[in-house]
Amino acid sequence: MKIDVLSLFPEMFEGVFGSSILKKASEKDAVTFQVTNFRDYADNKHSTVDDYPYGGGAGMVLKPQPIFDAVDALSAHSETKPKVILLCPQGERYHQRKAEELAKEDHLIFICGHYEGYDERIREHVVTDEISIGDYVLTGGELGAMVVIDSVVRLLPGVLGNEDSQVHDSFSTGLLEHPHYTRPSDFRGMKVPDELISGNHKKIDEWRTKETLRRTWNRRPDLLENYSLNDIEKKLLAEIQKEK
Ligand code: SAM
Repeated sequence: MKIDVLSLFPEMFEGVFGSSILKKASEKDAVTFQVTNFRDYADNKHSTVDDYPYGGGAGMVLKPQPIFDAVDALSAHSETKPKVILLCPQGERYHQRKAEELAKEDHLIFICGHYEGYDERIREHVVTDEISIGDYVLTGGELGAMVVIDSVVRLLPGVLGNEDSQVHDSFSTGLLEHPHYTRPSDFRGMKVPDELISGNHKKIDEWRTKETLRRTWNRRPDLLENYSLNDIEKKLLAEIQKEK
């Protein structure tokens, strides 16, 4: 996968792309990152990328020309049509399903906004997807782009050491993941559940299934509404509801 980012603050990405799983992913050639300052594409003498809004009002608006030209240049050598993603509080609320959808693409271009917003023609003629990372307003799109990129790259084949680890992640299954424990089995009198140290895989699986259901039912019952339970899960959920 190739990931391009258009930002006025490329240095913000150095730490994120140069650390941990994202760094390893690019070392393994699972992904190539390129961050471009779209100011470099501004065709005016002072490299201005923003201007006053027509009709007046507060704040500055990002001009169309630098972004149109930057996206054209970055798309020129793409074999497939890239997805051009605008980070925007008015976009589709980000979700694990969207991360899974984006992880199937070959080329993603992220546009990070600033100031009051973008000229609407960018949204209408360049962008394929608009993503919001939540119902709050950030100063710029960079943090949003990092959130989306991190969640997509970890899904690419070969990126996580153990492919299995993402299969049970919260939201991948449609539910929240069960709790985890590690050594020691007794820490200051707080004990690890017997099932997990029993060595009996059937018991461990059943415990995990039940605790997945319990956690989801307690914290995000809305997720259960869109999840179709099998017979074992139905029985375990009934037990949990009785225990409560
Ligand atoms: N005036 C805009 C509005 O009310 O919708 C908000 C602009 S915001 C100050 C500046 C930039 O931050 C946006 O263009 C976008 O790139 C980014 N941004 C802010 N909140 C975001 C969110 N929740 N998700 C994704 N990007 C966001």
